[in-house]
Amino acid sequence: MKTLIKNCRAVSPALDLSAAILIDGRTIERLIPAGEPLPPVDRVIDADGLTAMPGFVDAHCHGRNNFDFCDASTEGVNLIGRRKLEEGVTTLLPTTLTLAEDALSATLRSVAAYDGKGCKMPGVHLEGPFINPKCTGAQNPAFVRRPDIREVERLNTIFPVKKVSFAVEMEGGPELASELLRRGITPSCVHSAANYEQFDRAHAAGLRNLSHFCNQMTPLHHRDIGLVGAGLLHDDVYLELICDKLHISPEMIALVFKIKGAERIMLISDAMRASGMPDGEYTLGGLPVMVRDGAARLKEGGALAGSTLQLNRALKNIYEITGLPLAALVSATSWSAAQALNLGRIGRLESGYAADIVLLDADFNVRKTLVDGEIRFER
Ligand code: FE
Repeated sequence: MKTLIKNCRAVSPALDLSAAILIDGRTIERLIPAGEPLPPVDRVIDADGLTAMPGFVDAHCHGRNNFDFCDASTEGVNLIGRRKLEEGVTTLLPTTLTLAEDALSATLRSVAAYDGKGCKMPGVHLEGPFINPKCTGAQNPAFVRRPDIREVERLNTIFPVKKVSFAVEMEGGPELASELLRRGITPSCVHSAANYEQFDRAHAAGLRNLSHFCNQMTPLHHRDIGLVGAGLLHDDVYLELICDKLHISPEMIALVFKIKGAERIMLISDAMRASGMPDGEYTLGGLPVMVRDGAARLKEGGALAGSTLQLNRALKNIYEITGLPLAALVSATSWSAAQALNLGRIGRLESGYAADIVLLDADFNVRKTLVDGEIRFER
């Protein structure tokens, strides 16, 4: 079936064009600049001036609408998959917490049973359990353990593991990075007290990612630039960023974009179960959390406990903070993650890429979300 999305502003890395998007089945066939003749098709979607962007990739999301992936509920997975479409997400990595292996196995089994009717979930992101016990944040320290590639392998047989976030300074940390890479899994460092030298060893082993950059990692010091300095220094390192203006100040968001450029930044939600829900009391990994004005904090100690951020809001925030054009910022919503995680041909509005497309109004509200050429959300 051929579909045409006409009258849209098509925004893709280094592209901002009044155009129509021609879709053949599940794939983008080509962009047709405004004014050129349109071919006959089976279905026309009139975008009426809306902005079309590649569907967003959320590489770090724990939950939404009162479900956490670690509830190990397929009902929850199905619901999260649908509701993420409302924020323009077409690809999501369900992200686990630091828990016992049997709990992680149960979570992966529940994701493996996903009905697939919402956004795509090509694999999971294991956040922990191989983190530094001194940097747990809202992760439960009771389940922290040493890097163990065999545990990742066992989980990977249940459902593909795409990314593992761990502390590189743990015994066997650099070796874990290279073992993961050998299996096509992206290693990433976070919940870590690594100094620059420890980062450098993992970098030499192939590590090219830092998760929720700036949060739960060594800050920049002028005699040891730590993980924050390392992330800013190395052009080849991808950074996850929670742009809710709470996990990172607007000034730091501006600084990171200024130094790194959007091509190495991936916006993530790091959303917990309260995303899409009212303020109130929730839990994260069994720990009580209070959500006030959208800010989720552990009741004990007050550490930030994930976010309630939605990715279309994150895009609006970086647009307002950085002043960069959408054709630059668009990398941070999809293309960077697609590359950092080897997700295949997604993340660009170009011939041969998946027809995963979000249509946004001028205030970044999501009006339609297409997955593989199919309208799966509209309002
Ligand atoms: Fe975290």
